[in-house]
Amino acid sequence: METWKSWAPPRVKFFQWLANLDRCWTADRLRRRGLQHHPRCVLCDQEHETMRHLLVTCPFSRQVWHDTLSWLRLTCRPPDQEASLNDWWMQTKLDTPKAMRKGLATATLLTAWMLWKHRNSCVFDGERPSTPCFRQRSERKPPSGFRLELPALGRLCRLPGMCTSLVQAFLSFSFSFLSFEPL
Ligand SMILES: [Zn+2]
Repeated sequence: METWKSWAPPRVKFFQWLANLDRCWTADRLRRRGLQHHPRCVLCDQEHETMRHLLVTCPFSRQVWHDTLSWLRLTCRPPDQEASLNDWWMQTKLDTPKAMRKGLATATLLTAWMLWKHRNSCVFDGERPSTPCFRQRSERKPPSGFRLELPALGRLCRLPGMCTSLVQAFLSFSFSFLSFEPL
């Protein structure tokens, strides 16, 4: 499996690595181990929860992908019916100009991570799934000094076609989910 070239923080890359190996504790994995699990995806309450469902086919997630890619003014098609997010990326990057690939990979990894974190808040903290909830979070300020912790992410702003204010809005939206500790 190819490692995605991105500016995402290590823990976000690690999540994607685990997700690709289907090693995260989804309801499907809990069920296979004979452990207690919720019967349906907490984000849409429609289908059995697998990692593919959470990141690719869930109606809630598809809305988030659509909103995020539109927000960043990226013209690629959101994940839809692919076998995995990795499969989507392998196809999508071929249609993406080289200069944009690392930026798109970063946005994709951060969005997948946010979906997982939001799912966890719904499972463990009783939060209600809602895309407006994502939007409210976007109004929170990122932790002070975040640029020092992750200077490379600022390079997203310099990609052709990327509007600085949009990227900064996206980053603050993402960082509200990341809860960084000082390095
Ligand atoms: Zn769902």
